[in-house]
Amino acid sequence: MWDVDRSWTLAAYEAKGGYQALDKAFGMSQDDVITAVKDSGLRGRGGAGFPTGMKWSFIPQDNPKPKYLVVNADESEPGTCKDIPLMMANPHVLVEGVIVSSYAIRANKAFIYIRGEVLHVIRRVQAAVQEAYAAGHLGKNIHGSGFDLDVVVHAGAGAYICGEETALLEGLEGRRGQPRLRPPFPAVAGLYASPTVINNVESIASVPSIVANGAAWFASMGTEKSKGYGIFSLSGHVQKPGQYEAPLGITLRQLLELAGGVRAGHDLKFWTPGGSSTPLLTAEHLDVPLDFEGVGAAGSMLGTRALQIFDDSVCVVRAVLRWTEFYKHESCGKCTPCREGTWWLVQTLARLEKGQGNEADLDLLLDQCDNILGRSFCALGDGATSPISSSIQYFRDEYLAHLTQGGCPFDPERSTAWA
Ligand code: SF4
Repeated sequence: MWDVDRSWTLAAYEAKGGYQALDKAFGMSQDDVITAVKDSGLRGRGGAGFPTGMKWSFIPQDNPKPKYLVVNADESEPGTCKDIPLMMANPHVLVEGVIVSSYAIRANKAFIYIRGEVLHVIRRVQAAVQEAYAAGHLGKNIHGSGFDLDVVVHAGAGAYICGEETALLEGLEGRRGQPRLRPPFPAVAGLYASPTVINNVESIASVPSIVANGAAWFASMGTEKSKGYGIFSLSGHVQKPGQYEAPLGITLRQLLELAGGVRAGHDLKFWTPGGSSTPLLTAEHLDVPLDFEGVGAAGSMLGTRALQIFDDSVCVVRAVLRWTEFYKHESCGKCTPCREGTWWLVQTLARLEKGQGNEADLDLLLDQCDNILGRSFCALGDGATSPISSSIQYFRDEYLAHLTQGGCPFDPERSTAWA
């Protein structure tokens, strides 16, 4: 759809067979749709990789409360730019996915929670929802199936933490966005204390093609445990940054071939496989399969497949300091290790970056990470430590060079010996 003229319109989507998966789904039982998604091997595309069909099957159908589907479109992870382009280019595939997924879990109300800063995306998805209502794809008795569904497009208020699913629910209910204690899990008591499925945009947008083409078609792509395709966002020092749709298990080397390689005259220095919350990797890891298992075995996480490419002109300490400032700013403040710890991380890193610390600060930094990792209330705290500990693992000498040179060796005002 990316290269189709006015691809975001209903006419363009229907011309490509859009909304035909609905009739196929309505011809199946809800449980059969869930089974198809389970059999496809689709795993959550928001970063955690939890099997989507299994998540749906956790919704207790004997619970008399209404069921809800919530689409997490709060894409905010640094470097991640896949859901927003997807919603801009093809919002109707998301709407069709919402309808099929809601049918499967027996929800008659769905919410698409979009980060509030991207007003153009909110407008585009709202327009698609209105078109879908006008065409009879949403509302009462959709396609004569007897299934009713209403969709609400909700604008977030600009907090990174609302990408965490329970903080998102808090925000949707009109409260301050902070994670909830689990259990109970959202499948049992989510939105308005009712059974709720929360899925990422790309996960839901994958559902129509799974229903239309069959689970085996989707499962034939990817690797043994990471099936299907996904969007890989390449940014930074590449010739052709952008979104590349490819089977899971592709390598960075292959993606760089598609993207024209690293910036001319420079070499790859480090990269993030899935946004800045995932441990950094280096040029040693060019052939790591980009699936959940391969990246995990390399000591990182697939995350959101946000591949930020940094060449040899970049100071890793400065890059890590910048990310850490972001986490400090976005910490919701609910738990002490993250609220206080990210502040301390910034203080220590800033001192090192200026060349004003000493070697013991590196151990102090790792100790601070150790007191955050696994002790925070949600994954934000853990994620804040990832770039720090991995950068010290791979680039300890560069940290030390800041101390011996009394400042950043990449600073043009200072020595260029390191660069
Ligand atoms: Fe909030 Fe950070 Fe604690 Fe998460 S880890 S609950 S973002 S303070």
